Amino acid sequence: MAKIVVVGGVAGGMSFATRYRRLNQNDEIIVFEKGPFVSFANCGLPYYLSGEINSLDQLLVAKDTMLLKRFNLMIKQNHEVVAIHPENKEIIVRNDGRDSSYFYDKLILSTGANPVIPEIKGLGLMKHFVLRNIPGLEKIISYIKDNNPKKVSIIGAGFIGLEVAENLAKLGMDVSIIEKSNQILGPVDLEMSKFIENELIRNNVKVYTSKDILEVKEKSILLNDIELETDFLIISIGVKHHSNLAKEAGVKLGSKEGILVNEKFETSIKDIYAVGDAIIVKNYLTQEDTLIPLASPANRQGRQLADILNGMDVSYQGTLGTSIVRVFDLTIAQTGLNEKQLLNRDYKVIHLMANDHAGYYPNATPINLKVIFEPKTEMILGAQAVGKKGVDKRIDIIATAIKAKLKVSELQELELSYAPPFGSAKDIVNLAGYVAQNIILGLSKTVQWHEVETLVNEGAYLLDVRSKEEYKNLGKIMDAINIPIDELRDRVNEIPKDKKIILYCQSGTRSYNAERILRPLGYDCYNLDGSFSIYSKVK
Ligand code: FAD
Repeated sequence: MAKIVVVGGVAGGMSFATRYRRLNQNDEIIVFEKGPFVSFANCGLPYYLSGEINSLDQLLVAKDTMLLKRFNLMIKQNHEVVAIHPENKEIIVRNDGRDSSYFYDKLILSTGANPVIPEIKGLGLMKHFVLRNIPGLEKIISYIKDNNPKKVSIIGAGFIGLEVAENLAKLGMDVSIIEKSNQILGPVDLEMSKFIENELIRNNVKVYTSKDILEVKEKSILLNDIELETDFLIISIGVKHHSNLAKEAGVKLGSKEGILVNEKFETSIKDIYAVGDAIIVKNYLTQEDTLIPLASPANRQGRQLADILNGMDVSYQGTLGTSIVRVFDLTIAQTGLNEKQLLNRDYKVIHLMANDHAGYYPNATPINLKVIFEPKTEMILGAQAVGKKGVDKRIDIIATAIKAKLKVSELQELELSYAPPFGSAKDIVNLAGYVAQNIILGLSKTVQWHEVETLVNEGAYLLDVRSKEEYKNLGKIMDAINIPIDELRDRVNEIPKDKKIILYCQSGTRSYNAERILRPLGYDCYNLDGSFSIYSKVK
């Protein structure tokens, strides 16, 4: 009977332990968790702040009694593993101030990640919190109960920061978000992040981008050019691998101190394995080393390691980084690479807008979808989507397509379930395949929102083919001339032949039709990808 010891009893660790038990009823499995809870839902923590999840019990995915009875796991909460001695296959565990020693045959590290706390002048003067586990959550809740704070500043506009912002705003707090970079939500690109920024502002959350915090005072924080009154801070600027224990044992670390493992999760020391946020993973698309701290990869890795240790031929293929967040009434999701990650690669971008289900059926809402692909190979490199409904489904389809190595034009072949309340006969994912194919075949040439100003300054002619009402009421791009698409054939002589023509409408569909009318007539024309719906978000 082998002795299997797991360090860290949440996503990766517990997925490993339960799968291992299902495959092997003989070995001894013991899980050490330094906190008071195992198998809790860290992803649910922000929603407890507002009461949307209203019982802590709901956050406990599996209780220790069940883990013992059903899985025969020996769970040791409040037990911190403080040292590993690989030469003796021994660990030292601290509980209640007392150290004891345990031996292992296989040691599995799923020690997670730690929130990064920035060095800011005066930080100690103001109450500040991070949200990582249930004790951390309880600290925030009891501070709010005891002090009735009115104003909170959230440092860092990633997924957790935004979830916390929404939930504290729902409690009636005056919420400010401070972000160092020029956009919120780093995993998506600027123009897509603007939808969410607007949604935050619409819900009275103040958003400050491109801001450094110069100093924290007792009742305020000083940014580059503004001082914000604040009662307390939530810090959510990201995480770093929790790898100290492994490092001190002599396990080899890689970039940003992440634990180095191979595709079988073996570390540099025999019989020590690691999974989850603590390890460096390969980006599925680039095969570059990276940190992608997400629950689905951690769970998958835990399960796969159990398979491997039970003799199955499994190996980890890398992490795609598919992620999603709801911010008030909008949802944004992404998969694969964004444009910022593609600086040295040839790629094409398409933006589309279509309804989540048939427009004639009540309550249809728009989805804005962005797909990035490599023109030469048609490989799908990434996708981002934002909307009120149906965003998860579209990004999950594209994430699946990436794993299945579908070409971007093959998205049109996907036969998706359809009835009016659920989708459209041509789903936006199919449309992405059509649009990509048009670009690949040269039927459509596009320009991006960030290229328009330069092209116009160089003499391009900007043509708005929306209706007169849309042109008048919704705003226009620069000094665009308006010829509605249905008047185009009659008024074509008004359009100069010696200039580049940039066409736009609201979503890019009518302007594509205009492009198809004008090109055979000898016009050098380009469709503004994403058209006014994208341009107006950024400019
Ligand atoms: P964890 O689940 O963090 O578990 C590590 C455990 O190891 C910890 O409990 C820690 O106490 C314990 N430990 C560390 N060192 C020792 C030691 N020496 N001895 C004993 N125990 C030790 N991901 C998503 O994909 N979607 C989401 O919506 C999402 N929301 C999130 C919201 C919040 C607030 C947080 C904090 C995270 C969220 N995540 C989300 C990320 C996700 O929870 C993590 O990626 C995932 O839990 C990582 O699993 P893990 O096993 O590597 O680490």
